[in-house]
Parts: sequence; structure tokens; C-alpha cells
Amino acid sequence: MSTKTTTTQKQVLGTYGAGSSHWVGDGFPVRNLFPSNGLQLEVSPFLMLDYAGPQYFAPSQHRRGVGEHPHRGFETVTLAYQGSVGHRDSAGNSGVIAPGDVQWMTAASGVLHEELHEAEFSKTGGTFEMIQLWVNLPAKDKMSKPGYQGITKEQIPVVQLAGGGHLRVIAGEAKGEGFVATKGPATTFTPINLWDVVLKAGETGELTVPEGHNTAVVLRKGDVTVNGTAKLSGEARIAALSQQGESITLTAAADSELLLLSGEPIDEPVASYGPFVMNTREEISQAVADLKSGKFGKL
Ligand code: MN
Repeated sequence: MSTKTTTTQKQVLGTYGAGSSHWVGDGFPVRNLFPSNGLQLEVSPFLMLDYAGPQYFAPSQHRRGVGEHPHRGFETVTLAYQGSVGHRDSAGNSGVIAPGDVQWMTAASGVLHEELHEAEFSKTGGTFEMIQLWVNLPAKDKMSKPGYQGITKEQIPVVQLAGGGHLRVIAGEAKGEGFVATKGPATTFTPINLWDVVLKAGETGELTVPEGHNTAVVLRKGDVTVNGTAKLSGEARIAALSQQGESITLTAAADSELLLLSGEPIDEPVASYGPFVMNTREEISQAVADLKSGKFGKL
């Protein structure tokens, strides 16, 4: 008797290119995939996705990047593909995010931090490529203690896909046809999947994410068809998928590098102002006041 279960495909709600392009500090030339495309409710609990580079930086004694700045009410997740970032924050955490590593920083009640090209990378120069994702926190956790997960490449399990290619499970539990369900190392406040997917031309990934999860497929580069209908081609493109359904089929027509994100939506009001994401305007005013009065600590 077959134990194969029947799953319904998630519907592709739309595909988008970069909604805006800008520099973050002097080190991160980013293409924003949301919220700039008007994607907000469709991607909750995710708030923002910036794709930095790939861009070559010449050798420099100056460390490019973003100097001291605050965050409150959410998490910043930085995935390094090429080049390295050095990080320091007011909660006492520091580290280097090297290619293949992921930094999962829980700002929660508030941190000051800096994000700079790592010293040695600055001196040597080279190609720089990162993704920064902002993940919302539920109201009950927004003022909890800041946290920090420095996840190295070695800690991230690699799953070989039956149709060729592989994925790296950063968060959640990777499921699909032809491989054993595999959990990722990141601890999250709400149910989230974050998987790096690599397919060569002609390879296919058959993946399953939970019914009810908001889901998006981000193409860093390549040419992929999502669920037989929606084509993502070139660089910096995103497909938003429905909460309904479970299965996602990715078919690559060229060598492709993707990020799959899914999560249970956080159905709460969002009040955001720059680096602060809270539930009400009053909480934003409080964050501004707390920053002024030194409650975010010292870097
Ligand atoms: Mn930051």
C-alpha cells in the first residue's frame, strides 16, 4: 500500500522584481523585494527583505557598512553568500558572518549595533553578497530580552533533493518528496521555515510547507518555474504564494540559487518607524524616547 499522501499546490499570488534599490550605509547596495512591492500581509511574519549585491568592492582601509543604529520589536536575520560582515551590539554580542553563515539577531526590547564589512574582507576586497531579512515578533515577545544566534555554515544541515540539487535548512523543518524531514538550527518565536535552495539546470525540487503559512520563493539568480506556471528569471525576483495548499515544485531551466521562506502569519497591528516595529504609535514614541534617554545601552 502506498503511504504517499496527496497534497495541494500552493497558488502563486504574484511575481515581482526589486521594488526599490538603494544603499544601506556605504556597504550594502540593496535591492528590496518587500515591503517595497506592496507585499505586507502576504509575507507576515516577515517584514522586510533586502538583497545586497552581488557587488565587487575594491580593497580599502575604511570598513564600509552601517555604523551604530538601534532596533526594537523584531529580529534581523543576515545570510552571507559572498564576503563577510563584522557585527557588534549593545547586548554584548559580536561575531563575523562569513559565507554560508547566518546571524539571527533578536533585537526585541532593543539593541544598538553596527554592521560593517569585516576588517580582513575590507583590506582584501572582493565580491559581496548578502540577504537581510526582518522577522516580526508577536506582541508578547517584543519587549523580551535581546538574543543572538551566530549560526555557522557547518551547523546548517544540507538535504539532497530527489530531483537533483540540494537545500540548506536554516530554520524550521524541511519536508518534501524523496528525502527525510530535516530540522534547522535556528530557534524562532513563531513557526518559520527558511531554506536555501540550489538547483542546477534541469533539476527539480518537490517541497512541502504547512497549510496556513505565508510563503515566498526568492530567486537570487537563475531561472526557475514555480508550480509549473510562474517564472522567476534573472536576478532578485520573488514569488508570493498562498496560505492555502502545501506543495511547491521548483523546476530549474538554468543553474539557480533561491531562498524559500514561510511562516505562520502574526495577525496583530503593525506600527513601524525606521528601525522600530511595534504594535501602536504610542509604543513607537516610547522607543524614540527610550533611545534618547540611553535605555538601548552602549555599543
Ligand atoms: Mn541593523
